[in-house]
Amino acid sequence: MTDLQSAPEQVDAAVATPQSSGGPGGGPTTFHREMVRGWGGAVGGEAEVARPENAEQVADLFDAARTGRLGARGLALRGSGCSYGDASTNVGGRVVETTGMNRLLEFDAERGIARVEPGVRIRDLWRHAIQHGYWPAVVPGTMQVSMGGAASMNIHGKNAYAVGTFGDQIRRFKLLTPGEGLLECSREQNADVFHAAISGFGMLGCFTEIELKLKRVHSGRLRVWGIPMRDLEDGLAILDDQREHADYLVGWCDLHARGKGLGRGVMHRADQMAPGEDPEGEELLDPVKQDVPSTLFGVIPKGWIWPGMWCAYQFGQVPLVNGLKYRAGFKEGLASPYLQSHGAFHFLLDYVPRWHWMVKPGGLIQFQPFVPAHCAGRVLRQIVEKAQSQGIVPYLGVLKRHRPDPFLMTHGLDGFSMAMDFGVPVREKARRRLWALTREMADVVLENGGRFYYAKDATLRGSSFESIHGSTAVTEFRALKERLDPGNVLQTDLARRMLGI
Ligand SMILES: Cc1cc2nc3c(=O)[nH]c(=O)nc-3n(C[C@H](O)[C@H](O)[C@H](O)COP(=O)(O)OP(=O)(O)OC[C@H]3O[C@@H](n4cnc5c(N)ncnc54)[C@H](O)[C@@H]3O)c2cc1C
Repeated sequence: MTDLQSAPEQVDAAVATPQSSGGPGGGPTTFHREMVRGWGGAVGGEAEVARPENAEQVADLFDAARTGRLGARGLALRGSGCSYGDASTNVGGRVVETTGMNRLLEFDAERGIARVEPGVRIRDLWRHAIQHGYWPAVVPGTMQVSMGGAASMNIHGKNAYAVGTFGDQIRRFKLLTPGEGLLECSREQNADVFHAAISGFGMLGCFTEIELKLKRVHSGRLRVWGIPMRDLEDGLAILDDQREHADYLVGWCDLHARGKGLGRGVMHRADQMAPGEDPEGEELLDPVKQDVPSTLFGVIPKGWIWPGMWCAYQFGQVPLVNGLKYRAGFKEGLASPYLQSHGAFHFLLDYVPRWHWMVKPGGLIQFQPFVPAHCAGRVLRQIVEKAQSQGIVPYLGVLKRHRPDPFLMTHGLDGFSMAMDFGVPVREKARRRLWALTREMADVVLENGGRFYYAKDATLRGSSFESIHGSTAVTEFRALKERLDPGNVLQTDLARRMLGI
């Protein structure tokens, strides 16, 4: 059993610092008033935070909440706080942060199966697993995400079209529920809870142990191609054409480009190496060799990058930067393929400390619609044009391919997603315009059978909940909530917005 908090590797501070900080004194179940925001920094507020270190302490907190000793706003479960919006905030209420439950309980190096506590982060897992020739089968764009948060949101990676979601990699888990205590869940045992708690945004119980399978890797590097995309439709076509053979695909889009060139950008494809294909491959199965240098071009400290990004953003230079990035994609295309470490390919932004401060002081929100394949080109173009026509243009667009999965509240479908990052204005009127725009865009997506992903949401209306999941799934989910958490102990700002609890 490994206590990952005391592991020698130090956390890169880029994303590691959630918006709440440890309180002084008191035990792990003592609450301290802190500022608890979504990762984008645009939503959230003060809450009372406790940091239990084991399942028994979580059970005590559930008991206290159930018997009304902790107030009416319940308890919000929180992992690393990497959800962009209000998925793990509880303004004016209480938050239970599970990052202290962070032991790697078991690692089967023969079969690549890990049993972990919920506070273990993707970072902790890959750094342990890579030495044995394994890599988590699904990773998001930051390695700071916890296992509990990943399961609860059923996160996806750049290979969602090929291997499915995080939930697809989970074999079984233990869920501590306020109503029925500890439940063991798998595809065979408590299968309804298994399929609903994964994707259940922390509403049904607290994951206390998760067992998941990892994938074999034979080299510490991936073979990577940069492929210029002329426009949105070209990007969608590349995703569809290459998904049969590519291990990972992700497209960066310039959403300032208009007309014919709307959505132009660069697609990145990465493939795993076959055994023996990379002569240095095995040597690079070392966590230290996965890290990227702490300076840019060998001289500029990475800590200086965010002020440069801040200036570009504040002084309206994003279209210029995007144009240069698009042109650089052609050069990258000529130099392709090249070799890149798994860490650098998946988590490059983690190595740029505080990059998201570029949107300070208002913070950012992300809007990520999932659109069925047959209408994706039309719908995505329509919503980007809507944003452009209102002069509220996302500074970043990221395109991915997805596939359906069996989880009740899933965002997965046979189609595409476009993650769009918007800087949030400080002035209330401009902020209200942004919220109104995202709701107009959401209406277009929902009219066309699309879905949304709550880890990336801050603005959807509760009335969208049924349109996203359908009435059968919503009824089933509400019934499970009533059974497993009859007193609504588990609440978040997102849940109050979407479920109306
Ligand atoms: C830079 C960046 C890049 C990202 N890239 C991707 C990406 O590529 N793909 C993707 O899918 N997502 C991505 N995300 C989103 C992120 O993966 C999800 O928001 C994830 O859920 C965050 O995990 P967390 O540990 O921070 O959980 P939090 O954000 O703290 O919580 C998320 C949810 O999990 C619940 N929860 C937390 N712990 C538990 C527990 N022990 N038991 C039950 N429920 C719990 C919370 O109540 C909440 O509903 C990205 C986020 C960032 C900041």
